[in-house]
Amino acid sequence: MHCPFCAAEDTKVVDSRLVTEGDQVRRRRQCLSCNERFTTYEVAELVMPRIIKQDGTREPFDERKLRAGLLRALEKRPVSTEAVESAISHIKHSLQATGEREVPSLTVGERVMEQLQKLDEVAYVRFASVYRRFKDLTEFRREIDRLEQQPESKSEPKH
Ligand SMILES: [Zn+2]
Repeated sequence: MHCPFCAAEDTKVVDSRLVTEGDQVRRRRQCLSCNERFTTYEVAELVMPRIIKQDGTREPFDERKLRAGLLRALEKRPVSTEAVESAISHIKHSLQATGEREVPSLTVGERVMEQLQKLDEVAYVRFASVYRRFKDLTEFRREIDRLEQQPESKSEPKH
């Protein structure tokens, strides 16, 4: 933290305490160069990052869109609403945990795939086939084979 008086880089924390019911930390700092004291407030930022679309434009994170995408992939699959909601909160939490103000839409897609893979493999492949736009059937087949070879895979391979 730079000193606001002389812009020196080294400052030390001389006192630190929780304020406003513990969701803020107030720190008294002292500059090691000019000895001036100043105060900083630290608050956890838990806002959803904005989404950087593939064309470079930004848009706010849209939970309804996320849910719609998941539900489309899960259509007519034996997955409970509760499991879907839990997947959504996992995705949101992992995006918040990046600490970034903006994340590429690709990152969101990868997180969705991680969750779908745990929920239902058919839904996962549906989503992945649209999302990754498999270039050809060989690539698609390879993904299916990879899934079938996973030891933790719950569903029986159909042949
Ligand atoms: Zn200073």
